[in-house]
Amino acid sequence: NEELLINSEKLYVAGQLAAGIAHEIRNPLTSLKGFLQLLSSGRKNNGTYYDIMKSELTRIENIVSEMLMLSKPQVYELSYHDIRHVMRETVTLLETQAILHSIQIERDFGPDPLWIYGVESQIKQVFINVIKNAIEAMTDGGAIHVHMKRIDNSVRIRIMDEGPGIEDSQLAKMGQPFYTTKDKGTGLGLMVSYKIVDNHQGKIQVYSQLGSGTTFEILLPFRYPDTAPVKTG
Ligand code: ADP
Ligand code: MG
Repeated sequence: NEELLINSEKLYVAGQLAAGIAHEIRNPLTSLKGFLQLLSSGRKNNGTYYDIMKSELTRIENIVSEMLMLSKPQVYELSYHDIRHVMRETVTLLETQAILHSIQIERDFGPDPLWIYGVESQIKQVFINVIKNAIEAMTDGGAIHVHMKRIDNSVRIRIMDEGPGIEDSQLAKMGQPFYTTKDKGTGLGLMVSYKIVDNHQGKIQVYSQLGSGTTFEILLPFRYPDTAPVKTG
């Protein structure tokens, strides 16, 4: 059934990625080892060694956390959700981080329930990943617009930022494992998000131009709850 399908997809992705992950973790480990050698050779140390070592450790930590998302055993409960609730919770979760970066998150969810059928924690993960990227892109502050609307048999979710935008040549790389332009990035957030949206029979698209911000558009099938009782996250 659908649950098993999601599980086997998950294993497939994890298997495919194993080599890549090993490589990504080996780089910071090698660098850590190097710095430890420098330190133990009694070389005069200024705090920078520790700073670099700390940031390499953070990198490993981030990679491992994102991989856990894919591999830790979870109960994937498929149910009906008014996605407005899921998004409200996500925005609340990220609002403190946004405010710290002088960013406002503006919402327009419309008056009607936006029903989808899926795994709440995964959908939430997608929203978190995309909005976090928007926050991280907007180094000068500004506004993020989250717009959701039913269009025919789909729920359309748009997350628009006022960041620097993305070059055409970079756009193609988005969602590829380990593609990141950030010092402490993992380059796994979008890959995981694309996979989740795909598992939900959805689509995700990125519209962006250098200098004019970025819009992530997610389409998920609108699925009205036709069975009682209804769980609404
Ligand atoms: P990470 O955030 O760890 O770098 P992601 O998979 O979440 O990994 O994103 C991959 C890359 O895509 C980012 O490093 C960044 O270069 C680019 N990106 C994603 N979202 C945005 C955005 N809203 N604006 C500009 N660049 C973005
Ligand atoms: Mg990210």
